[in-house]
Amino acid sequence: MRVLVVEDEPDLQRVVAMALREEDYAVDTADDGEDGLYKSQTWDYDAIVLDVMLPKRDGWSLLETLRKTKPTPVLMLTARDAVPDRVRGLDLGADDYLVKPFELAELSARLRALIRRSKGQPRPVLDIGEIRIDTASKQVTNGGRAVALTAKEYSLLEILALHRGTLVTRTMIYDHLFDENDDSLSNLVDVYVSNIRRKLGHDLITTRRGQGYIIEE
Ligand code: CA
Repeated sequence: MRVLVVEDEPDLQRVVAMALREEDYAVDTADDGEDGLYKSQTWDYDAIVLDVMLPKRDGWSLLETLRKTKPTPVLMLTARDAVPDRVRGLDLGADDYLVKPFELAELSARLRALIRRSKGQPRPVLDIGEIRIDTASKQVTNGGRAVALTAKEYSLLEILALHRGTLVTRTMIYDHLFDENDDSLSNLVDVYVSNIRRKLGHDLITTRRGQGYIIEE
């Protein structure tokens, strides 16, 4: 999963980005509303954490402009627990909000729920035959036995499982697994797929040559 954090307070931006990277999100950051808008329009993020008070363009304006073209889930950060602020954000198309100061655990839990809902998965657990993927704990079991996946293998499996029955292109995988500072080569995706097959069975993921990958319904 790849998220964008738009926050102008350097310490807060750093702490939030670090916490999300520890949870294996690919994280891009923006220091102001213009850069945030540019990035949010350029990439298909799985979610955006958006501060309201920002230089150059505030969070409301960014959100209003973004919503003309994209449904990316947005979690707004408001400076004070004022009803008009929250109402304005929600009316402009924010999906959730958090009042500063907040606990990082709550931010990441809300992000997880928001991303799940946006993919049509209200439950945190995905079952594919004997394979169970718990998106809250990021644990995978096969027939009840725990399966050890690396962070990137898990992320790839999760994105394919969330889009079950739909082709996931290599570009989508690349965009959602790696952030803007990550220069890993895209051909690593093949390596991740073959590792997942080795650990969870060869039939789980189907290759559509020249197109991408799919977990069939
Ligand atoms: Ca701010």
